Amino acid sequence: MKLRSYEAFWLLKNGLMNSYPSLQEDIKCDVAVIGAGITGALISHTLLKAGYNTVVIDKRDAAAGSSSATTSMLQYEIDTPMIDLAEMVGEEGAVISYKAGVESLQMLEDLIREENIDGGFGIKKSLQVSHSKENIAKLKEEYLFRKKHFFNVEWLSSEEIKERYKINSHDGILSAEGASIDAFKFTHELFYKNHKRGLRIYDHTEIKKITYGDNVVIRTKNGNKIVCKKVVFCSGFETLKMFKEKYADIVTTFATVSEQNHDMCNELKDLLIWETGIPYIYMRTTDDNRLLVGGEDIPFKYNGINDRLKRKKADMLVKKTESLLPDYNFIEDYRWAGAFGQTKDGLPYIGEHPDYKNTIFVLGFGGNGITFSAQGMKLVLKILAGEYDPLLYLYRFNR
Ligand SMILES: Cc1cc2nc3c(=O)[nH]c(=O)nc-3n(C[C@H](O)[C@H](O)[C@H](O)COP(=O)(O)OP(=O)(O)OC[C@H]3O[C@@H](n4cnc5c(N)ncnc54)[C@H](O)[C@@H]3O)c2cc1C
Repeated sequence: MKLRSYEAFWLLKNGLMNSYPSLQEDIKCDVAVIGAGITGALISHTLLKAGYNTVVIDKRDAAAGSSSATTSMLQYEIDTPMIDLAEMVGEEGAVISYKAGVESLQMLEDLIREENIDGGFGIKKSLQVSHSKENIAKLKEEYLFRKKHFFNVEWLSSEEIKERYKINSHDGILSAEGASIDAFKFTHELFYKNHKRGLRIYDHTEIKKITYGDNVVIRTKNGNKIVCKKVVFCSGFETLKMFKEKYADIVTTFATVSEQNHDMCNELKDLLIWETGIPYIYMRTTDDNRLLVGGEDIPFKYNGINDRLKRKKADMLVKKTESLLPDYNFIEDYRWAGAFGQTKDGLPYIGEHPDYKNTIFVLGFGGNGITFSAQGMKLVLKILAGEYDPLLYLYRFNR
């Protein structure tokens, strides 16, 4: 399965930051983490810190899956508006999961400070604009609902948006809490620190078979085995093939990034922008002064994306960007495509699955995969300790 097309910007920008050995011997550990993307980096960090003897394996290089293709906007708002989520999981559940999103932004910021890593992290506001005149009333309902539950939001008219940000749009919600990151760099930096502390990381290590029992035994294609008490799957969208149930739809999403623009206004630098359309367009600036735009989703293409389609989709993204930001001179530098999972309610799957003994899954699907992965840190420790958390109920399989 092709998780992304070749030119993912972050991989080109940072290069292959670190490489780890492949597994060439039989080993034992408390917990084996499968997947060395941003989720595996966060979960292995938290496990190591809690004292678990932890091993990470990946069949590719670290951070070379979706974590190199992502636009990495960090938002507490999920793809399903809170007011719609309340219809699906109840008002209390919707508030709990939205509040957990806000907390996860803080957790990521704290982690970056504590570990003294860069990760291209920046605190930003998040502006969601209505994609049509007809949708303004619905977005306003969402605003009032969030206000009722004490979220730090402001309603901006199209005139105010134009004046503050030079954006041509309908009215929208401005959230005070948001951030952006370079998920590729962050993942490498966190792994590097933890590797020096004793975290064992093996890349280019393919799994042949796993036996789930009182111990979990992972056999690799090389002929080695890992015997562990628990396994945590942080293996992204490819994990879906382990289940007979269809937990998510996979789409291909497109992204394009501009050349560096040193005249970019500060208001734009500190903002995440997205709209209410389906699929919606989303954009952020990078720490090296580019504008990064994503959207134009289509059903997943298993054979990869040809150049013509990538060109067409990138052109469409640029056209929409020019309409939203008429003063911004968007000169494209790179374009790429990547896989993206969408669940029925916009919530992730984090927890145990009845078909797999001693196994935990951290599958942060949807537009907020990274904030869900951050929530996974606390939740994995709770599962291991046998403790309950309302989020585990909301994020359970077979819901
Ligand atoms: C274009 C695009 C834009 C996005 N925008 C955002 C955004 O703005 N904000 C946001 O929060 N999220 C966004 N996402 C989603 C986000 O990228 C993902 O949620 C996140 O990268 C998932 O990280 P991960 O570590 O779970 O998965 P990955 O980075 O894909 O890592 C999983 C790893 O598991 C490994 N693996 C899989 N199966 C096996 C196996 N059997 N054996 C060994 N290793 C295995 C893979 O090789 C891979 O390295 C976007 C995604 C794309 C493609």
